[in-house]
Amino acid sequence: MLLCCMKTINDVFAEYKKGLGAVYELNEIEAISLLTISEVCNLSKAKIKAFPETTIAAKVAEKLEDILVELKAGKPIQYILGTTEFYGLPFLVNPSVLIPRPETEELVEWAISLAGNEQKGNILDIGTGSGCIAISLKKNLPQFDVSAIDISAEAIKTAESNAVLNKVDVNFIQQDILKYAEIELPNSSIIISNPPYVTLHDKTQMHTNVTDFEPHTALFVPKNDPLIFYKAIADFALLNLLPAGLLFFEINESYGEETVKILADKQFKNIELRKDMSGRDRMVKAVNH
Ligand code: GLN
Repeated sequence: MLLCCMKTINDVFAEYKKGLGAVYELNEIEAISLLTISEVCNLSKAKIKAFPETTIAAKVAEKLEDILVELKAGKPIQYILGTTEFYGLPFLVNPSVLIPRPETEELVEWAISLAGNEQKGNILDIGTGSGCIAISLKKNLPQFDVSAIDISAEAIKTAESNAVLNKVDVNFIQQDILKYAEIELPNSSIIISNPPYVTLHDKTQMHTNVTDFEPHTALFVPKNDPLIFYKAIADFALLNLLPAGLLFFEINESYGEETVKILADKQFKNIELRKDMSGRDRMVKAVNH
């Protein structure tokens, strides 16, 4: 192909900007374009920024066009590429698991900061999805034995692949936490969970690339009982958390006080509600009595 006909990185940026205007905000389009070009062309983001006139091979340009078609349909870039990053680690993702979110990294950070001095023990992650919480905890707290459960067999398969990818040993179990009486595990020093917490009301405010593509079992809760998972996990924790063990939750920003109350009513101590980087009530920690 003649050089004059070859696309440059700048041309791709322009095509993505034009094509995605109806789907994303401008800053999101820039981030998505940069990520996509970086992954598909195998170039660092710094190189892309520094040399935007670099030409792109025809095959690569074609791949970038195909991805743009999927992006225009609203499919999240992480599902298109099949990978994402969480807590500095790579994770495989597909529509059977929720795409790991930055606010969940803050929950992991909190757990690591409070667990770091413990010599050993068990950690249990409930509703593990891609395994992002369990795997990043095991990577940073190798002295702990980490187990994780999820109701979805597909999610467990993905989480197992992610443990292999990150070279850690995590015990994954397919289980429904709402049937917690059936779960047999050694008592834990830490129980952590980012359970489904999106209500029908929240759904109306959400971007369709979340509601149309991400797994509904991982997201939504019944209208009449939005804290169903928090109650079940707290009850499970009363039976399975060691005395003075820690319970960590990611929460719906609208239910901070209610989640705290559930835990206080069940006699958990030192309950702390924290905001995420966007200033929204997003996580709770409690200590078993
Ligand atoms: N934080 C996710 C979202 O906004 C929801 C995660 C969950 O339901 N646990 O889409």
